[in-house]
Amino acid sequence: MHRNYWDKNTPIPPGYTELRKDALTVELCVYSLQHSRIKEVAQVRTIAEEAGKIWCQAGVTIQVVYWQILPQQSIAGPLNLNSTDLASEISCDHPSDAAVSQLMAIGKPNAPEDNRLFVPVYCIPGNNLQEGSYVSGCNRQVNKPPDHMILLTDSADGRVLAHELGHVLMTRLVARDSWSNVDPDPGRNAGDPIHNANPQNLMYTNVHKEPLISPEQVAVARKSRLVTRQSLVYGFQEKKPYKLGVKIKSLDVASVSDEVFSNDALESNWTFAVGTSKTKAIPWVYANDDLGVGSHSLNHDFPSVEVESDEDKLTISVTGWDRDKNSGDDDLPSIRKEWPKGEDLWGSSGFDPLHVEGPVENDEIKYSVTYVIRVDEAPLRQSLRFICSF
Ligand SMILES: [Zn+2]
Repeated sequence: MHRNYWDKNTPIPPGYTELRKDALTVELCVYSLQHSRIKEVAQVRTIAEEAGKIWCQAGVTIQVVYWQILPQQSIAGPLNLNSTDLASEISCDHPSDAAVSQLMAIGKPNAPEDNRLFVPVYCIPGNNLQEGSYVSGCNRQVNKPPDHMILLTDSADGRVLAHELGHVLMTRLVARDSWSNVDPDPGRNAGDPIHNANPQNLMYTNVHKEPLISPEQVAVARKSRLVTRQSLVYGFQEKKPYKLGVKIKSLDVASVSDEVFSNDALESNWTFAVGTSKTKAIPWVYANDDLGVGSHSLNHDFPSVEVESDEDKLTISVTGWDRDKNSGDDDLPSIRKEWPKGEDLWGSSGFDPLHVEGPVENDEIKYSVTYVIRVDEAPLRQSLRFICSF
């Protein structure tokens, strides 16, 4: 599964291809018990996306791989799993073993069958657990290594999910066969060490409106066995090449030195060429019989070149020679620059649009070249989701 449950059937538009990115991912399967207020996948999405924004601070992407409303449950235990206020029957801090087993026995119906680890999240009816008016989420674990489950009441939002997921992801092996969910942050609450003392921290008991995850918490969570690197689909891109153009703005001469018996200006001939690593470069010739020190404005626009693939590079080269009356022609130092696609689309979308190559020098000249790269045509993109980079 490379997509969220609500996107799994979104078709690839005709003439488009999927865009994928590697991401540190934690997967959730969400189940709504009878009478839970979560009755539509859009509600699951809202909660998951809010929690996802918070966990993005740690570079962890939340993916919901499954959701369903569970059928009526059998009631072999202390809890009435079909109650309209199941939350009020559950103590998160001191649940009876029978209650925990009963919740665990709900199981993970229709979970992905490829043995990937995921966290089951149960949406239960009622606003608050037995602990009181602010407790709308809970997580329990059994076994070693731990099997986790998260409970969300009707009043839980994405911040509560993010907090409960924090308890899950910060559960780590601390000694042989010994797992701890104590908050790894030094600012943990001494009296309640699975929680943080800083009200703005995600692991504070009441979750802040813009909760923060500390570097120590991030480091532990990213190493959780529940966090795996996956190739996720984040959108679609038209199957069409980028077309790039280059404008040579100026030839900037810092110094020249010509024959002994003439002035220092050069009788120069230049070839600028723009192409890609896969195609033949397009040349443009510039001659200047009296090239002296200073910035020589060229403003030459090269026609578009097509980049065939994301691996293809844009190439820019400059070669020149100086015609000498007395001592034959001299080569001028050359420039060759390759632009990979990178984050800035072959140099077209960086912070500063002006690029400078050089200076390069030999005993005739010292110069640099100033140019810009433009995108003449780009394939259209459609975004499906946000992926947190790591
Ligand atoms: Zn908590």
